[in-house]
Amino acid sequence: MGDLSENFSRREFSCFCECGFQTVDIELISVLEDLRAEFKMPITINSACRCENHNRLIGGSYGSKHKQGIAADIVIKGVSAVKVYKYLNKLYTNKYGIGKYDTFTHIDVRAKKARWEG
Ligand SMILES: [Zn+2]
Repeated sequence: MGDLSENFSRREFSCFCECGFQTVDIELISVLEDLRAEFKMPITINSACRCENHNRLIGGSYGSKHKQGIAADIVIKGVSAVKVYKYLNKLYTNKYGIGKYDTFTHIDVRAKKARWEG
């Protein structure tokens, strides 16, 4: 049991540089809980919230949704990144930002649709 929802805790969403930045979007949590229910496997959050400095340091884009706390880079145990991408893309056909990478999937709950490959 997480302290945010059934499977997620606040600390999983914090910026890595220990600046303390952390703000979690309820819609994002709902998407992640749906994924957890669909694949029935633990989800690792590689990166969620990022402060301005940390985002720059790791080469994140200027307009990164991670800075707004509405994005997460995730890995689902035993499920390929492309499978996660396809599932999200099918479920949320006309909204959200979904990025396909080799080893993880990016999801953010922006209003407009955006898709890309990293
Ligand atoms: Zn930070």
